[in-house]
Amino acid sequence: MSSHFAIAIDGPAASGKSTLAKELAKRLGLVMVNSGAMYRAVTWKLLEDGVDPEDESAVVEALQGMKISCGVEGLVSTVSIDGFDPGEQLRGEEINGKVSGVSAIPAVRDRLVGLQREYLERFDLVMEGRDIGTVVFPDTPYKIYVDADESVRAQRRVAIGEVDSVSDRDRTDSERITAPLKVAEGAVVLDTSTHTIESGVRAAIDILRSQGLEIRETQ
Ligand code: C5P
Repeated sequence: MSSHFAIAIDGPAASGKSTLAKELAKRLGLVMVNSGAMYRAVTWKLLEDGVDPEDESAVVEALQGMKISCGVEGLVSTVSIDGFDPGEQLRGEEINGKVSGVSAIPAVRDRLVGLQREYLERFDLVMEGRDIGTVVFPDTPYKIYVDADESVRAQRRVAIGEVDSVSDRDRTDSERITAPLKVAEGAVVLDTSTHTIESGVRAAIDILRSQGLEIRETQ
């Protein structure tokens, strides 16, 4: 068993998970792992190599040949495939449109969940995604489900200039058979619709304290 602990942050697209996870990582001195970046990286590689992301057997075969390396840089997770880190390309419109389909494939999830769990062998973590509290670290007591009104979430994407059909992704992510997005047992729901970043972080810290986490803020 690992001597490290994980804070699991789940929720729909653009709910404020990443912002919250980054702030918590900074203030509590944890490594922040963006699990969505891993699903995006696999999707990026499939598209790069001309593999149809909707053809499950082609995806499974391509996945077997991919060398996926996960690391940490400045307390934030990194991912590269076959030695290349796609960086900002992961946020492109085509990936936004295809990533949920790729993420519904069980073989993709198996591979990436394994890599996500490896982080806990080395670091105390805050990991954000869709199934962190339900599947990746179901035994952690520290779980927050971040939500926000759909219109607020759609506006957040527009505000950063991204084309992203948030509601389509949420539907696919919630309706898939394997590891669907849902509130994990023991998670507290935090609605960020009317929160500022600061008030959202304070609310999250209160939740984590109520779940038994001893918190000494490092900044
Ligand atoms: O978090 P982000 O919006 O970047 O995630 C992109 C996609 O990756 C999600 O829409 C979902 O399909 C998938 N994902 C997942 N499980 C996770 C994290 C992300 O299925 N833990």
